[in-house]
Amino acid sequence: MSQKGDRSNKLINNNSSGIVIGGGISGLIAATLLQRKGIKVTVIDKGRGIGGRLATRRIKYSETIEGICDYGTQYFSVKQPGFQVWVDDWLEQGVIKEWCQGFNEVDGKPRYCGINGTRGIAKYLAQDLDVCTSTRVFKINYDRQWLVETNSGKKFQGDFLVMTPPVPQSLKLLDDSNIALPPDIRQSLEQVDYHSCIAVLALLDRPSSIPQPGGIGIADENLVWLADNYQKGISPNGHAITLHATPSFSEKNWDNTDADIAQKLFAAASTWLDSSIIEYQVHRWRYSLPKTLYGQSCLTLPELSLTFGGDAFVAPKIEGAVLSGIAIAKSINH
Ligand SMILES: Cc1cc2nc3c(=O)[nH]c(=O)nc-3n(C[C@H](O)[C@H](O)[C@H](O)COP(=O)(O)OP(=O)(O)OC[C@H]3O[C@@H](n4cnc5c(N)ncnc54)[C@H](O)[C@@H]3O)c2cc1C
Repeated sequence: MSQKGDRSNKLINNNSSGIVIGGGISGLIAATLLQRKGIKVTVIDKGRGIGGRLATRRIKYSETIEGICDYGTQYFSVKQPGFQVWVDDWLEQGVIKEWCQGFNEVDGKPRYCGINGTRGIAKYLAQDLDVCTSTRVFKINYDRQWLVETNSGKKFQGDFLVMTPPVPQSLKLLDDSNIALPPDIRQSLEQVDYHSCIAVLALLDRPSSIPQPGGIGIADENLVWLADNYQKGISPNGHAITLHATPSFSEKNWDNTDADIAQKLFAAASTWLDSSIIEYQVHRWRYSLPKTLYGQSCLTLPELSLTFGGDAFVAPKIEGAVLSGIAIAKSINH
């Protein structure tokens, strides 16, 4: 599509400063690379913790029993050399480990996970960056510089803006701020669509029956994935499991109570539970995995000093988000 051609930004120099909305992995990678070039970058995220869909949470039951669950990304593998470089660093720094070489069957390809949960990867990347969490951007304005307003009352200014939230959230922010995009671009971005996913995090009183290595893909109408975070090695003080519902279950049951959702998913997983549930939480991912991609690693509008990126621009997985983050940085400072 001609509209998706090269719109790379030539307005940025090394004295520029920028703002990245979204502290998921794509935003963190872009900010890291731009900062390495001497560009001042601030990352703003609405989440309490950094990482977006790299999400890990504690479920405390008692002083001695607590579970730790990855409830977004579960594991990842590597295809592209550009991603391998980052993975090698995370391995060397003790941020990730090889979990296994396949779940339902072994194929010899490493599957990695965070040593302290997948959020640990985001924390590692964020440690040297200027990051504001628990800060939701609700209005943006461009007048030769970007002005970003947040719910905390703090305002940020930058020469360029990067938007990495799921695309419908970025478009809503533009609408709320009365910023119009060229119609062809707007139309292409509106095509990007996502599955939703309901996750249930549960603490069991005994080990689960999930087979080694502690993760199993399930061909069921309600359940798509089941993980044992204790076997995975991230939940040493509790038999914590993660259940991911199918997109169709998630859509159908979205507005149901947590209790109803949990009861249905525990029933679907009963073969692998074999013990009592002592605590659980439900998390609803409205934007889980992109099902329609943008078709280009990122999108830069030089006339607005604005770049869009995220997994939906490359592939619905960590690797896709990282490659988009790399493309964002290249597009801004090439
Ligand atoms: C249930 C589930 C399971 C998954 N399993 C896997 C897997 O096993 N392997 C794999 O490789 N990938 C998996 N993924 C996909 C992977 O998590 C994503 O591809 C990747 O994390 C996307 O990163 P991102 O930076 O593009 O987006 P995100 O991580 O979504 O980051 C966007 C950030 O923008 C922030 N934001 C949004 N609006 C605002 C605002 N107005 N102001 C401030 N901040 C804002 C959000 O808080 C968020 O942190 C899974 C995802 C889910 C949800």
